Amino acid sequence: MCYSNNILSLAQRPSLYVHVPFCLKKCDYCAFYSLSLGQGAHGRDFRSHSLVEIYLEGLAAEMRWRQKDTPLGVSSLFIGGGTPTALSETELEVLLTGINKYFRFEASAEKIAEKTVEGNPGTLTPGKLSALRTFGINRFSLGVQSFNDELLRQVGRMHCADDARRSIKELRAAGFDNLNLDLMFGLPGQDLRTWQKSVEEALAWVPEHLSVYGLMLEEGTELFKRVYPGESVKEEPYPLTLPDDDLQADMYDWAVGRLERAGYVRYETSNFARPGYECQHNLTYWHGREYLGLGPGAVSFQGRVRSKNVEDIPEYRELARAGREAPEEREELSERERMTERVILGLRLAQGVDLAAFARDFGVRLEDIFRDVLEKYESQGILFREKGYLKLNPRYFFIANAVLQEFL
Ligand code: SF4
Repeated sequence: MCYSNNILSLAQRPSLYVHVPFCLKKCDYCAFYSLSLGQGAHGRDFRSHSLVEIYLEGLAAEMRWRQKDTPLGVSSLFIGGGTPTALSETELEVLLTGINKYFRFEASAEKIAEKTVEGNPGTLTPGKLSALRTFGINRFSLGVQSFNDELLRQVGRMHCADDARRSIKELRAAGFDNLNLDLMFGLPGQDLRTWQKSVEEALAWVPEHLSVYGLMLEEGTELFKRVYPGESVKEEPYPLTLPDDDLQADMYDWAVGRLERAGYVRYETSNFARPGYECQHNLTYWHGREYLGLGPGAVSFQGRVRSKNVEDIPEYRELARAGREAPEEREELSERERMTERVILGLRLAQGVDLAAFARDFGVRLEDIFRDVLEKYESQGILFREKGYLKLNPRYFFIANAVLQEFL
């Protein structure tokens, strides 16, 4: 296949995301769509178990009728959640069998498709790892978050640091040679020293990829209630305090320097990889390419339409069985919205926004559409143009959200 044809067909192949909306227990800071499986016999109660069966039936039905959306196959797979590895070995096999039955994977002529599963320490078993490998999963993303037990306890994580250590060893032993570790900073009670220790330990495990996220305090979560127990968010004193913005910026900046010195490339605001191990699936999102999202609450982006499946699991199954789209939300992006997304997502990437591609795809120069914002931030050195790309000055990555808001 010639190079240009390869690029063309790659662009026409969407990525596939499968949402598993279950965790063993909800973390205190979590605002994602995920249901607690409970802690009954064998790690879950009977009612939740029934819900997993309903979910799997719905997913199988959705896969069956939505395979038509991928006539050229899919370029990557990401099974996320939730905690996919909270499913039992048998349930995981059912899920993976369905994916392999209905979807064909083909990243490019040179590369095999990246297939990632997300999971948490303490939920892996030899049987599950063996099933993942058997079904071709070649990348694993482990939610370590911290190697400090007290901090993990503070945010209601189910696992301890030793669980994470054990899981990393088990993943390597099972043959996973593309491993991501998630770490969080800005946790209650965390100081620079404890953050540095977690980063150092993560490096000592020599993962291929590291994701470094700041804690987002979301209204309605358990953690939010503990930080702001009163009716008003302005009430003081707060019983639980988070590191302030300056300390969080120090944590982020320190991690960036340390990871770069260790040979990791920051290719996106929160993501670092050894060269060649950038997450191909997530790059789909940041480049604004198409993706198909399956499962309750999953989001798809096809053509100009972004849609989100219903979250209610029995309703999701009924719609999927009827072969009907199950959108809870559906929006057709205007030209202007697509341009804005291209800029916002592109500026999260170290590579920046490709100005020639922008002009080609939209028939207008980026500079002509966002003149005011560019003038404001280029004059302050926050945005700059280099070799045909618009970039965010790396020194300002930590305040990127505030800058990006202005494009809206
Ligand atoms: S493991 Fe992840 S998805 Fe599950 S409750 Fe915790 S933060 Fe949410």
